[in-house]
Amino acid sequence: MDKSIKKLLGITYLNIEFDDTQPEQFHEEVIKGQTVTVWRFKLTYHRRCDQCGFTLNNNGTKLVRHVGPRSGFHFNYFEIRKQKYICANCGHTAIAEFNDVEPGDHIMRKVKQTAAMELSENVSQKHIAMDNNISTHTVMRQADGLFSYNKTNFHYLPKHIAFDDFKSG
Ligand SMILES: [Zn+2]
Repeated sequence: MDKSIKKLLGITYLNIEFDDTQPEQFHEEVIKGQTVTVWRFKLTYHRRCDQCGFTLNNNGTKLVRHVGPRSGFHFNYFEIRKQKYICANCGHTAIAEFNDVEPGDHIMRKVKQTAAMELSENVSQKHIAMDNNISTHTVMRQADGLFSYNKTNFHYLPKHIAFDDFKSG
């Protein structure tokens, strides 16, 4: 059942678990005038120190909120209690990583990819922003990303360069 819910929410990182310290797996909340569903997860796993290789000790948790996809006529948010770690050997600290969101970002990667794909259709950036529960600024940044992608791959290649020229890269 939990696996099916995660699938419906577009979560591919299956090590994430529903937060069993909470009475419900989700609650509804009104954000910016819209009723949204907030799903409560916990994320913890054994991890070694990036710096020295020692096993990291748990060091409390941090509650983080990510923008998820739309489903069931609501927008979804993921509220994740992420494990924080500290190394007893060198003092290095770390936090559990949720692979469906880029480190340092708060919007699910797939939501951004969807917005980028919609940009290739004749839809306004404002509409895409509303449709995906993200800001027009974020949509514009996806547009910039798409533009530079196209630039490197297609439009700006001089016509006389043969494909063989790229094999060494
Ligand atoms: Zn260490």
